[in-house]
Amino acid sequence: MSLTELKPDQYAVMGHPIAHSQSPRIHALFAAQTHQSLEYQAILVEPGGFAAAAQTFRASGGKGLNVTIPFKQDAWVYADLLSARAERAGAVNTLIFETGGIRGDNTDGVGLVRDLTVNHRYPLAEKRILLLGAGGAARGVLPSLLAERPAQLVIANRTAEKALGLALRFNDLGRVSGCGFAELAERQFDLIINATSAGLGDAVPPLPDAVLAVEGWCYDLMYGREPTAFVRWGREHGAVQSLDGVGMLVEQAAESFRLWRGVSPETKPVIAVLREGCVTP
Ligand code: NDP
Repeated sequence: MSLTELKPDQYAVMGHPIAHSQSPRIHALFAAQTHQSLEYQAILVEPGGFAAAAQTFRASGGKGLNVTIPFKQDAWVYADLLSARAERAGAVNTLIFETGGIRGDNTDGVGLVRDLTVNHRYPLAEKRILLLGAGGAARGVLPSLLAERPAQLVIANRTAEKALGLALRFNDLGRVSGCGFAELAERQFDLIINATSAGLGDAVPPLPDAVLAVEGWCYDLMYGREPTAFVRWGREHGAVQSLDGVGMLVEQAAESFRLWRGVSPETKPVIAVLREGCVTP
């Protein structure tokens, strides 16, 4: 057997910045658990350089990529063939390099829904859901959220037009509408999902105090060493559960791993390891 044949399969995550990424650690844990021979690295790519970097990685024998901020749209353009959910989202976070071409998928929505419905046993059917934010993450999770058949899904965003635009783009998939934060007065929701990046500045979007229903839940896509601003907001406003995005992070990675390797890793032990290690945002 030649040395090339012995080399583990190569994967990577590309983004800017990337040093903070937990993906190499998560995929190393998945590989050890499932006895898969692979290596996974984090690659810093300069804005505008995604396609060239992905091409170089593929030419060197790379088997697949994860893609994070700010390249998910570039990856959507770069892929030859898109899954239905990635096509809808307009964003790709997983590329699979095959001999026939490059497949693009988006596992963020599955990651969020699995964390809520499987890990936390919180069914989304018939729930009134408020999704805060209308950026790439919101677009990525919308098809999966609507597939769970909530009673209604309202997208609220600082720039209201973006929320309205997203609602129009997805309204054939379920009951979805868009608005600005000011229009949330007098409304109540069973689940509030924060997909804004306001937490980077330790802030929370301006929400009416009574917007969370009795027995309501909160979920922040962001995560950090300390409870995020939105997780704290949920606790202060009586949420039964106020969760951060670590579970989603691991679940979306598990779905990428399955797409690449055909094996579904156990996520619970990996979530536990990340929580012990205090994830950095
Ligand atoms: P984008 O930059 O695409 O979108 C940012 C969104 O946040 C926009 O809707 C923007 O509103 C809104 N926003 C920014 N600042 C504020 C503020 N101060 N007040 C209110 N709204 C604000 O980012 P992404 O959608 O890609 O990411 C959003 C978050 O989700 C990030 O924190 C990211 O880390 C997290 N994420 C977590 C994942 C996980 O696995 N746990 C996966 C993917 C993302 P406007 O349109 O008005 O500018």
